[in-house]
Amino acid sequence: MKQVTDYFGCRVFNDKVMKSKLSSDVYKKLKKTINDGKELDISVANSVAQAMKDWAIENGATHYTHWFQPMTGSTAEKHDSFISPEDDGTIIMEFKGKELIKGEPDASSFPSGGLRATCEARGYTAWDPTSFAFIKDKCLCIPTAFCSYGGEALDKKTPLLKSMQALNKEALRILKLFGLNATSVKTTVGPEQEYFLIDKDVYEKRKDLIYTGRTLFGAMAPKGQELDDHYFGSIKTRVQEFMNDLNEELWQLGILAKTEHNEVAPAQHELAPIFATTNIAADHNQITMETMQRIAKKHNLVCLLHEKPFKGVNGSGKHNNWSMSTNTGINLLEPGDTPSENAQFLLFLVSVIKAVDEYQDLLRISVASASNDFRLGANEAPPAIISIFLGSELQAVIDSIESNKPLKANGKTFLKIGADVLPPLPKDTTDRNRTSPFAFTGNKFEFRALGSSDSISCCNIMLNTAVAEELRQFADRLENAKDFNQELHNLIRETIINHKRIIFNGNGYDDTWVKEAEKRGLLNLKSTPEALQYYLHEKNVKLFTSHDIYTKNEINARYEIGQEHYSKIVNIEALTCLDMLSKDYLPAISKYTKNLAETVTLKKSIGVNAEYELELLNKISDELKNAYEAKNELDSKLAKTSEITDCTELSMYFRNTILPLMEKARDIIDGIELDVDSKDWPVPSYGDLLYSVK
Ligand code: ADP
Ligand code: MG
Repeated sequence: MKQVTDYFGCRVFNDKVMKSKLSSDVYKKLKKTINDGKELDISVANSVAQAMKDWAIENGATHYTHWFQPMTGSTAEKHDSFISPEDDGTIIMEFKGKELIKGEPDASSFPSGGLRATCEARGYTAWDPTSFAFIKDKCLCIPTAFCSYGGEALDKKTPLLKSMQALNKEALRILKLFGLNATSVKTTVGPEQEYFLIDKDVYEKRKDLIYTGRTLFGAMAPKGQELDDHYFGSIKTRVQEFMNDLNEELWQLGILAKTEHNEVAPAQHELAPIFATTNIAADHNQITMETMQRIAKKHNLVCLLHEKPFKGVNGSGKHNNWSMSTNTGINLLEPGDTPSENAQFLLFLVSVIKAVDEYQDLLRISVASASNDFRLGANEAPPAIISIFLGSELQAVIDSIESNKPLKANGKTFLKIGADVLPPLPKDTTDRNRTSPFAFTGNKFEFRALGSSDSISCCNIMLNTAVAEELRQFADRLENAKDFNQELHNLIRETIINHKRIIFNGNGYDDTWVKEAEKRGLLNLKSTPEALQYYLHEKNVKLFTSHDIYTKNEINARYEIGQEHYSKIVNIEALTCLDMLSKDYLPAISKYTKNLAETVTLKKSIGVNAEYELELLNKISDELKNAYEAKNELDSKLAKTSEITDCTELSMYFRNTILPLMEKARDIIDGIELDVDSKDWPVPSYGDLLYSVK
């Protein structure tokens, strides 16, 4: 029996492998680059490349690729083999330092939002040595950043790394004031990943799933998730076999897959890894999503990562558990035991509160997509309003600071920050609030609004940068303080007073919250086209440019790509909807009514009662006419999109005009489905899909 400890990370060029394959001089220089983010010099790169290639070949690799994350949200790779010809007709396997550090993919087809004219197609990729290279399907994958020749970021990794640097810089200024000798602060993330698994044979009969990842039609099955019998239920053998294969693959790739369970909806599951440094967690989450889809096929299953594959049951999200840690092993969101640790914790805590309040719009944008619009605010996922949950114990601390009234708990009195010890806070809050988009869970925050298919990079770019900005302001103030403890107390108290509107410990699904949030002046951005417009607001442009995360051009590019992507997605859905109406539903229903009509005629001709058939025939024929009209309306309104050139106007049109028409057609077809013989229905039903894995 193979043991996990023996094969964990066996396909990763990790620290252990580096130590054994590199000379100690080269190893030390590489480590220095990794730890300090310094440039790698070419002679070191040559030695690393040589060792990496030898190791990769020993492990069956024939190709290498710069593996990067363009703005499509998925990953990209272009494989090059190691072969290099010799004069005598043979080959050698070669890989040079310059190929390791930098690649030049012809990248004209990646979205650039106008950052790169098609005629200057080439971009370049640059190795991120903090994320280990790995072997996937005989290919050595080198995690890289992707930029245009002008140096503008065309990917998600570059700004993520920059946002981590920004936070590192400002957090270290704060730690210095507390007398801590840490030399780096990194953000950490553990993303919990939800997904659906359905049988491949059934999947292949649904064009909507194939083209759009979600069902555009389908009446609910008699049984959904109302019994809560799937959540944490025993895992079916076929699913367990998939999970076993998936775990083995992820472990070989050094990914810390930890928790697996059934989720709320039928056919829905979750995988959670142990947390890692943010850029590594982001790489690992991309690999995890890709591996899930690949391994599923081996089991004749399909893994759906879409946020809302089925109407009427829960969709899938991703929880971004986030914290900040020093290289000395201190979690900065851990309350600690001494007055000084407590004070430091409270300062970092209020920096997050202020960041989330001031940059609600950016957090909302970071989870905005056509598919996630179906979840947010739909009583299964957090609302589209961003707010923070602290839990009753921490709330009591915050209240006591705000009101300057002592807090007495467990025989201790807490009044003055920096002088008194906090009452103990529960490690893992038991009164978990599942309805909050941004919850404090003992020693980290959990951002729960992400969609299941989202890259986690975007929300962490926003979060890291916003918190970096608040820490910068705090450090500016505290560095000049005459009485540090007094200034600290005042700063924390003022921040609570000014930003407490973002704290909400109640039920986020309750309608009264929507009204209350409005009163508090919180944003409620219900759709992607609306949310994206906040990207360009002056305060956001200032935030990104001042921390050197994005230039104004890069923000504009992201804005345009976001709006265009939204429109493209809804356009594909609308075309699929029309295709299924014209080629599947309407003909099948028409045929069904023909059969009914023949039955009526036949029965009547021999004097038999045909009331059931006649009534049904009338009902379905009327609805068929309605469906036909809905199809025509959708068709003609969709044709109008070619006249709209402005990307914002277009996405708003798709949102406000096209989506409702698709929904209208769906309602009619779903109604007819309930009346038609299942043998005559052209596609598998929700029952067939949701219970396809036996
Ligand atoms: P739950 O489902 O109750 O939210 P899980 O245990 O499934 O909890 O997930 C919690 C996630 O939080 C895990 O991925 C875990 O590794 C991660 N996590 C724990 N501590 C930290 C931390 N300091 N920083 C980031 N993530 C963390
Ligand atoms: Mg969670």
